[in-house]
Amino acid sequence: MILAAEGRATGGGLTALAAVAHLGAMTMVLKDATPSARSWKQAMWRGFTRRCPACGRGPMFRSYLKVNETCAHCGEELHHQRADDGPAYFTMMIVGHIVVPSMLVVEILWHPPLMVHFLLWMTLAILLTYLLLPSVKGAVVGLQWALRMHGFDLAAARQDNG
Ligand SMILES: [Zn+2]
Repeated sequence: MILAAEGRATGGGLTALAAVAHLGAMTMVLKDATPSARSWKQAMWRGFTRRCPACGRGPMFRSYLKVNETCAHCGEELHHQRADDGPAYFTMMIVGHIVVPSMLVVEILWHPPLMVHFLLWMTLAILLTYLLLPSVKGAVVGLQWALRMHGFDLAAARQDNG
């Protein structure tokens, strides 16, 4: 507006109008280039509870580890996730840090027979892995969504542009 007013005063109205239009276009580009921030903590928690990282309502998985293409509740595109082997590694790390110290403590305190160790820790390791793996995968997908990794940034850009 200031540029336009100065332009009229100096007789360069058309040039000033073009400058204002250009500034407006630049502002729109900047707005598109800086999409709204996403909370990675909230997204990871929603993923950990196996829900959509965007709305927290729709289920993330259509089966044990298969991520839904889109959220059934808000329509967010979830197929951009590339969790790959990450969740398996993180789950092994978590389960290992629970099972191994527990095993050492039980051995030091009670010295149970080896068969008890074998049955107890194998069962616990398998059970924990089964329970944790989808949640850890959900958290990884939630983080990827929050950081706009892989195709999640393109999906956001399409939504912002209508
Ligand atoms: Zn959703």
